[in-house]
Amino acid sequence: MPHNIAILGSTGSIGTQTLDVISRFPERFKATVLAAGSNVEQLIEQAVKFRPSLAIIADESKYARLREALSPLGIETAAGSAALADAMERPDFDTVVTATVGYSGLLPTVRAIRAGKQIALANKETLVVAGELVTRLLRESPVRVIPVDSEHSAIYQCLVGEDPATVEKLIITASGGPFRSFSKEQIESVTPSQALRHPRWNMGAKITIDSATMLNKAFEIIEARWLFDVTPDRIEAVVHPQSIVHSMVEFIDGAVKAQLGIPDMRLPIRYALGDASRLPSSERPLSLTDYAQLTFEKPDPEKFPCLKLAPYALNRGGNAACIINAANEVAVRAFLDEKISFPEIYGTIMRTLDAIPFIQSPTLDDYVETHSAAITFAEQLTGCKIPLR
Ligand code: NDP
Ligand code: MG
Repeated sequence: MPHNIAILGSTGSIGTQTLDVISRFPERFKATVLAAGSNVEQLIEQAVKFRPSLAIIADESKYARLREALSPLGIETAAGSAALADAMERPDFDTVVTATVGYSGLLPTVRAIRAGKQIALANKETLVVAGELVTRLLRESPVRVIPVDSEHSAIYQCLVGEDPATVEKLIITASGGPFRSFSKEQIESVTPSQALRHPRWNMGAKITIDSATMLNKAFEIIEARWLFDVTPDRIEAVVHPQSIVHSMVEFIDGAVKAQLGIPDMRLPIRYALGDASRLPSSERPLSLTDYAQLTFEKPDPEKFPCLKLAPYALNRGGNAACIINAANEVAVRAFLDEKISFPEIYGTIMRTLDAIPFIQSPTLDDYVETHSAAITFAEQLTGCKIPLR
């Protein structure tokens, strides 16, 4: 019997690579639910090929087209974010790949955990926004989360067979993004098209901009804190421009374990779908002699101030990271639409943090309200509205 899988964000970078992995192991995996944001034509194409039981489009204005195309094939259809979250309770799948972008991952993931589904977690924002609450839910349930984010997959792999009490430090590698070698002055005037040109990874637009500001690395430190229950003072980011060492774990005896591979997300996707087991690769293997050198350097928070937001958010706790995430979602859109400059992404986050009330122990409803208030504030500040908020 194949593993039945729901893919949230099937039309995105991680979603399409997940379908690629599924198509290579048809006896092992079946895509049972496909969900997308607004790209209805691509979702229809995927549904025609993979024949899920259900296809969902978050953008309700696209529903008529989805239903018209898929009903004749006997594929159920639904629309809206509430339908997407409700679908997490269906009995016809056991694993959810959370590959939507931003805050949209939180509520479906919470519902999936409550319904006892295994989580292949690509949507790091779920743990950034509400890491404490999600971790509490996981502690009370048998659900296992296997990370898809390459750094966290690497750490997960390094920890197999190890006693968690012997972990000294997590070392998260960062490519450094397209502006690693730019001066502070040069960074001030970079354009969206420059920021969208990531040197190593081909990813969705939002995470590519987050990599350019290095907020992605701050988010990954927060993600690691919750996934591996390691205090923030024992999580370090190291810039490694070749992106071959995907991350490392240092143990109390001084040993450091690393996971290496070519930069290709299909490895961590395969590992997560296969319940942390090794399935054969179809990509070219890593040949270390192709690389004259593997280098490591300290990140520079003066050039990339967003890096400071990880210790800030983790020390402050509460809804601070939720505010940061929401402000960033708007700021990234505003930068791409050329309404604000690159350094103003950080400025927008800081001003939103000042404006939105701090809550020390937020409930799920508090997170929902914080997100909404922070989005509204940042939209007014930047003059830019985001779709599907
Ligand atoms: P993309 O922008 O490429 O894809 C996002 C997907 O989510 C699309 O299918 C999009 O649908 C869908 N979507 C967007 N908004 C909503 C919404 N409100 N409701 C439902 N679906 C929605 O992103 P990526 O694949 O790059 O990233 C996905 C997640 O994985 C992010 O959290 C990212 O941080 C993480 N990640 C990505 C990596 C990568 O290599 N890409 C690496 C590590 C982590 P549509 O296009 O139809 O509108
Ligand atoms: Mg990553």
